[in-house]
Amino acid sequence: LTFLGIESSCDDSAAAIVRSRPGQAPEVLSSVVQGQTALHAAFGGVVPEIAARAHAEKLDDCVEKALDLAGLRLDDVDGVAVTAGPGLIGGVLSGVMLARGVAIGAGKPLIGVNHLAGHALTPRLTHGLAFPYLMLLVSGGHCQFLIAEGVDRFHRLGGTIDDAPGEAFDKTAKLLGLPQPGGPSVEAEAALGDEGRFVFPRPLLDRPGCDLSFSGLKTALLRARDALVAEKGGITVQDRRDLCAGFQAAVAAVLAEKTGRALLSYLALSPAEPALAVAGGVAANRAIRAVLETVSSKVDVRFIAPPLPLCTDNAAMIAWAGIERFRAGLGDEADLVARPRWPLDSQAAPMIGSGK
Ligand code: ATP
Ligand code: FE
Repeated sequence: LTFLGIESSCDDSAAAIVRSRPGQAPEVLSSVVQGQTALHAAFGGVVPEIAARAHAEKLDDCVEKALDLAGLRLDDVDGVAVTAGPGLIGGVLSGVMLARGVAIGAGKPLIGVNHLAGHALTPRLTHGLAFPYLMLLVSGGHCQFLIAEGVDRFHRLGGTIDDAPGEAFDKTAKLLGLPQPGGPSVEAEAALGDEGRFVFPRPLLDRPGCDLSFSGLKTALLRARDALVAEKGGITVQDRRDLCAGFQAAVAAVLAEKTGRALLSYLALSPAEPALAVAGGVAANRAIRAVLETVSSKVDVRFIAPPLPLCTDNAAMIAWAGIERFRAGLGDEADLVARPRWPLDSQAAPMIGSGK
């Protein structure tokens, strides 16, 4: 099976071709991602109207490039998969309308994919993981623990009750005058800092379960910075490094503790091939990866981190999820609808026709 995938739920327009043959590892034949960072930079955040228009303009081009790079024509693909939600409605609609046009025009099946399911199924594309496996989705917009039980079955163990960790990294960078995206710049500073100098709160550790919170961390960091400024009129290069190191250590500690708990719930299912996989941009962070690897190995669970371009938003994960759904008989949805909100564990097949 060869599928075209289309993704436009946030600020990346993407198209990709994935091929899967029985008995062989699936292949990403092409994966094109066009970001919009420059377009939104002046506004300090993603502007929905600008995102929607940019998707409408760029997606055609992405699809053409993805086909070219794969050396295929539309006729050669067996189906079209598109992100049908959750996300910014204008962007999702641009993708769904294009995908519908392409699928109907070429007489191919059309599969609607939940963006989060795309992330959650990625370790099966890259490592052929067997169900059930534990998934930590940790990005700029999300933070949740999921047990992936089947192509269409995800059980949410817990997640952030406020900010996502990536967002916390981005806000930290902003507070300290470091470039965006904040993750890589804070990580680089943290590597040169002393994580013991500022000890930031580890929220919700006293509460049972796998829920997390990151918004308090930002407040604590702001207070520490302001205290330094009040004391000596500004912060030095070393202060900044130490603040970053303390912040990152707090995020890593919270993720490690909650991942340990999620692993215990998961292991209660007696999985045949126990594995923890990560997705999302924050999975790029080496300190965070290292603690996740440690907590998994303590309980003999394999730790999987897919290559970064497949961890962040991309269309290969959507094409792959389309293949998985198609194989599972989760069909052809010529009139699928876009859904701005679509929690993963209420994952029924996308609704057909009706507005929600
Ligand atoms: P989503 O995909 O959930 O809608 P998103 O598009 O913001 O959200 P991604 O593209 O997966 O998420 O990841 C981007 C986020 O990852 C940013 O917040 C960025 O700061 C963070 N990030 C990237 N690299 C690192 C790093 N090395 N350490 C920590 N965070 C990082
Ligand atoms: Fe995403």
